[in-house]
Amino acid sequence: MAKIIYDTQIGDFLDHLAEEYAVFLPTENNPRSFSAQFKFGRYQKGTKPILNYPLTVLPPKEFIFPAEDVLFKYQKEQIIEAKPQKQIIFGLSYDDLEGIEKLRKVFEVPVRDKPIVDKLENTILIAIDRYSPPGSISFDLYLQEIEKGVFVAFVGSKKGKTLLGKGKFKDHKIQVPTIIFKKDPLLNDPNLSMAFKKSKDHPIWSELSKKCFGCGICSYVCPLCYCYDVKDKPEFGAESCGVRCRTWDSCLLKNFAETSNHNFRTELKDRIYNWYFHKFVRMPKEFGFSGCVDCNRCVVYCPAGINYRKVLKRVLDDYKKGLKK
Ligand code: SF4
Ligand code: SF4
Repeated sequence: MAKIIYDTQIGDFLDHLAEEYAVFLPTENNPRSFSAQFKFGRYQKGTKPILNYPLTVLPPKEFIFPAEDVLFKYQKEQIIEAKPQKQIIFGLSYDDLEGIEKLRKVFEVPVRDKPIVDKLENTILIAIDRYSPPGSISFDLYLQEIEKGVFVAFVGSKKGKTLLGKGKFKDHKIQVPTIIFKKDPLLNDPNLSMAFKKSKDHPIWSELSKKCFGCGICSYVCPLCYCYDVKDKPEFGAESCGVRCRTWDSCLLKNFAETSNHNFRTELKDRIYNWYFHKFVRMPKEFGFSGCVDCNRCVVYCPAGINYRKVLKRVLDDYKKGLKK
């Protein structure tokens, strides 16, 4: 027996959830844009939820690791920590769910990043996709679409069970199809890490630097790019106070490597190589997984038309050719 949810029931369910939580889900961004049609936004009671969408411009990491986040306020010798809101991210795709799971691991070890872990602990994740629910990725609820507008609910936590109980969904005897989510095989190639480690002098980095704008968009839209900067913003009012903020940064930006008297990565080709090195060499070494969930955002939104898969293929092919010599 499984709980079946029909698309016509989801609006009422969300209205119910929105009474207790800030609910974020895919919303219309720019209806005339092919690639930037959707973005995650706050659910407004009574609005029709979007249940099928190809991609949102930004991944849902923005609710865990916001583009600008106040870490704490300081005022009269006191530190006032920001309190996370109780929130639900609804309608996550399989790969965005995986992105959040991996981001959680990045911010939990080796040092626990309290503001981010606190946000995660106050966040309920509800995914919707046509694939079978992931075995090794945590979620609270997972709705597998088995035919248009018909979903089977899978419970992944106590919170998810409680929420599901709030909807008036019926149990049905049903055979749920098994549909496995498959990534680009390039990402599972066992030579990937070594190929990138050895590719520092490959001509591809110089070639890419002639096309790339060094704008950092590929980092901002990536569910697994997590570099940041921290700045104080003093307020010069009656009280002596201010806020400490964390903002997104990107290793592709020239000032990323700026220190007090030296920039240690001035060349764009080196910054491009570093972006790939971090994702495909450093992250596998540090965390046991690469920094890519194959969401395709960096391909869709790169203004220079750079496709990371072509880079992966060329570096891997050349590495394998070198092994055969
Ligand atoms: S989005 Fe494209 S152009 Fe901008 S830094 Fe990334 S690769 Fe370069
Ligand atoms: S496809 Fe690009 S944006 Fe998406 S996870 Fe991989 S590197 Fe990041």
